[in-house]
Amino acid sequence: MDKKIAIVTGGNSGLGYATAKKFCDNGIKTYVIGRTKERTVNACAEIGDNAVPLIFDLTNLDKIPGMIQDIFDKEGQIDILVNNAGINMKKEFIEVTDAEFENILHTNLFSVFSISREVVKKMKETGGGSIVNISSMAAQYGMPKVVAYSASKTAIEGMTRAMAVDLAQYNIRTNCIAPGFIKTKMTAKALDSDPPRKEKVFSRTPMGKMGLPEDIADAVFFMCSKEAKFVTGTVLPVDGGNSIGF
Ligand code: NDP
Repeated sequence: MDKKIAIVTGGNSGLGYATAKKFCDNGIKTYVIGRTKERTVNACAEIGDNAVPLIFDLTNLDKIPGMIQDIFDKEGQIDILVNNAGINMKKEFIEVTDAEFENILHTNLFSVFSISREVVKKMKETGGGSIVNISSMAAQYGMPKVVAYSASKTAIEGMTRAMAVDLAQYNIRTNCIAPGFIKTKMTAKALDSDPPRKEKVFSRTPMGKMGLPEDIADAVFFMCSKEAKFVTGTVLPVDGGNSIGF
């Protein structure tokens, strides 16, 4: 890739961190968005010079245009947007409140729409770009106690296809990566504390293991590279074969 400017939301931990690191290691200046100041600043210090911390709560939808304008004023371009920030909550369907449902949709979906719209305005001015949305297996498959999360991820996949159709004329590609079970501090802890579930997950995955955040970063990197220049509107599962249905 030539010198590019990227934004990775939720880039201070897990999959977003690995993605921001992959970009920065490959010479892409990357704005790393997180809510928590200390975590975001420390992550960028670890990643290196190309990483720029940006403390921002994506649920502040009305502040997104200003935030994107500031980046554009500084850089003159935004080539890549990775909508990775996401939250989940495990709760029985019947117990989920309207406020909880809305909170998850706000972070996982509404902010993705708003930030993408603002970035697209800039990409249009400069001749194109690539947007990658991080989905989940929960978009396509029923999973227990994640109704709001599933709704948000399924919507993201539909939105990605619709965006691809609308934005191809501007040389803007939009794709999804759908991670399977990826080993982060949180997922490893959850599975270690539930051996039967761990066994089920592993036995359902043809590759017989969890993925690593770097596996997702590699797929995102591909989607943003010129090697993927004819790829748009797709959902790429990166899940060790879990979604094949074996
Ligand atoms: P983490 O919990 O490790 O990280 C979530 C990130 O999102 C953090 O950087 C957090 O920042 C940020 N974030 C959350 N809410 C906001 C907000 N309102 N504004 C700004 N930033 C916010 O997540 P993972 O790395 O595990 O997951 C990343 C993505 O991948 C998510 O979309 C998730 O749904 C998806 N995914 C993950 C899988 C996995 O196995 N890990 C499997 C399938 C999908 P801060 O800490 O500062 O709040």
